[in-house]
Amino acid sequence: MRIVVLAGGIGGARFLRGLREIARERGVTDITVIGNTGDDIHLFGLKVCPDLDTVMYTLGGGIDEEQGWGRADESFRVKEELAAYGVGPDWFGLGDRDFATHIVRTQMLAAGYPLSAVTEALCDRWQPGVRLLPMSDDRIETHVAITVPEGEPGAGERKAVHFQEYWVRLRAGVEAHAVVPVGAERAEPAPGVLEAIAAADVVLFPPSNPVVSIGTILAVPGIREAVAEAGVPVVGLSPIVGDAPVRGMADKVLAAVGVEATAAAVAEHYGSGLLDGWLVDTVDAGALARVEAAGIRCRAVPLLMTDLAATARMAGDALDLAAEVRA
Ligand code: GDP
Ligand code: CA
Repeated sequence: MRIVVLAGGIGGARFLRGLREIARERGVTDITVIGNTGDDIHLFGLKVCPDLDTVMYTLGGGIDEEQGWGRADESFRVKEELAAYGVGPDWFGLGDRDFATHIVRTQMLAAGYPLSAVTEALCDRWQPGVRLLPMSDDRIETHVAITVPEGEPGAGERKAVHFQEYWVRLRAGVEAHAVVPVGAERAEPAPGVLEAIAAADVVLFPPSNPVVSIGTILAVPGIREAVAEAGVPVVGLSPIVGDAPVRGMADKVLAAVGVEATAAAVAEHYGSGLLDGWLVDTVDAGALARVEAAGIRCRAVPLLMTDLAATARMAGDALDLAAEVRA
């Protein structure tokens, strides 16, 4: 069985750890991950791919477990030195070990390798146990239209900022009017992406951000169509539990695209043209009827990734629902 997963950062990566476990138990070895690169940012002359790295470090055993991103056992000497030169931004946390990844990536890109080849080379070290593909080799950057907050230059004016500035510096604390994957319309899926979807037996949407992670991947021309037309079960897991994101601020970007932060509304946002099955948490069992009325098979199961065993059960439930809609 071939499994394709569209993944963002922390939610996607943690889910993948459970999926890899249950797949191993069930004798499945073929997992392809299509990673979000809309969060990518250039900092200090380096190309940083936060979501690809979160997946790579999490599955490769190098992640800071508590934080969910960045390297374990990290230090911040380079950051301190940059600050001493007055060179910013100071709001994006890049540790010394993490810097090495970005240096290697940037060096390879400068030598002419596409991001997909660079990602493969980085994964040679980390051995994530899945094939990790960036959604595209082309540059795509998610921007968020905001109103500049009080106390900052241009207060009250509208402007577009990089997703990381909105998410990390402003902590999604200002209203987002729109979310735009800049460059997506001209981008092409990375080599292997459409092929993997076409060859898949099941496509999974992990509990990743529906707007700025999975939504951005689906914005690359050809990917949404390939998923919709693959003719195999597409099953998602809700990142919203009890009408709130389990972690982070997904409700803010959902509001920007006019979607309420509920498990049912997110399923409807993807729609039955894309989704065949949807898992909601047991606390949201009341949403079942609404999701099924939208033409999407729905089940309520525990959806908190508290440990590997619980996460593996979630992934198993998603595969079971896929088998059910296939039958
Ligand atoms: P990011 O790129 O680091 O923001 O990560 P993702 O887009 O992959 O995932 C973020 C989403 O994961 C958030 O909307 C969270 O609500 C969701 N999430 C995190 N932990 C859990 C969990 O244990 N269970 C569920 N259902 N969702 C989770
Ligand atoms: Ca992300």
